[in-house]
Amino acid sequence: MNYGRSFNFSAGPAMMPEEVLEEIRDEMLNYRGSGMCVMEMSHRSKVFQQIADEAEQDLRDLMNIPDNYKVLFIQGGATLQFAMIPMNLMKNGVACYYETGAWSKKAIAEAKKYGEVVILGSSKDENFSYIPASNAAGIPENADYVYICENETIHGTTWQKLPETNGKVLVSDQSSMFLSKPCNVSDYGMIYAGVQKNVGPAGMVVVIIREDLIREDLCEKVPTYMSYKVHADNGSMYNTPNCWDIYCCGKVFKYLKKIGGLEVMHQRNLDKAKVFYDFLDSSKMFKGTVKPEFRSLMNVPFVTESKELDAEVVAATKAAGYDNLKGHKSVGGLRASIYNAMPKEGVEALVEFLKKYESEHQ
Ligand SMILES: *Cc1c(COP(=O)(O)O)cnc(C)c1O
Repeated sequence: MNYGRSFNFSAGPAMMPEEVLEEIRDEMLNYRGSGMCVMEMSHRSKVFQQIADEAEQDLRDLMNIPDNYKVLFIQGGATLQFAMIPMNLMKNGVACYYETGAWSKKAIAEAKKYGEVVILGSSKDENFSYIPASNAAGIPENADYVYICENETIHGTTWQKLPETNGKVLVSDQSSMFLSKPCNVSDYGMIYAGVQKNVGPAGMVVVIIREDLIREDLCEKVPTYMSYKVHADNGSMYNTPNCWDIYCCGKVFKYLKKIGGLEVMHQRNLDKAKVFYDFLDSSKMFKGTVKPEFRSLMNVPFVTESKELDAEVVAATKAAGYDNLKGHKSVGGLRASIYNAMPKEGVEALVEFLKKYESEHQ
């Protein structure tokens, strides 16, 4: 069906699968005979509890989440996690971080308010265009965890292989790559993702955390809403959760199961990204900014020879129905975010447009 929707290359909030939006539309005024919209429902009602339970179960199925991990739906976005992680997980007051771009920098700044931060590696020297080498030797004996931003949304880099942690707990910000490919949850102590990049509407973060990391003795000092224990003990309903988001994300989880799960999604993402990177590698006008071995499947930053031309291209793409291609203000240039819900046709159409632009502006 043609709704006149544009191909939206926004880094987030971003596209959702069209058939999910259609289902939501169809259930908007009266959810399955309940007589109300999900937005109007009590979070304590049976009908909503079932929505939440199914959302959690479908996510567990998709990611094969082991039973000793809790799944939490928390508000405050990924940003609140920058603080919740050190507040809840720093036992010795020491944590290790890799500095790979804007989002890990924010996480580091927040962790420094709570304890000592050891930087195991940084790609600052080359404008965050690569992922630093694993540095297990730099991990102090008393480190509480090792933290990575697994996909740096702004810079377009991704960890192809997880760093070694010397047996320490790995904590990963997967916001801009969540559910883009299979994930072995037991490699991590905690995974979290703001959902507005690759899943649903803004306003919620999914936290997947190993049970033994939720510690009673540490939680006492943590403000109630920021304690993982409080969220875990109350099934993510200590207070009113973001019911609407749980519902929408649950629909996306079901959709991903239906299309064949994360292997299928990964293959689609590989295919899409290849179309784009092949184009960048063959273009004279446009250049990718990331070292090829660290390229993200989700966020593709690229530049022309000048800021003026970058801006002209952004304006031309917008006029042609390709939205939000302006690079992040801290980096400039252009960026195409090609998350799960961006169809391959969207990427192909954009590439065709850019090729034509290039041939007409040489
Ligand atoms: C967008 C983003 C965040 C911040 O998300 P909010 O939900 O806006 O707080 C954190 N980390 C990464 C990797 C992101 O892409």
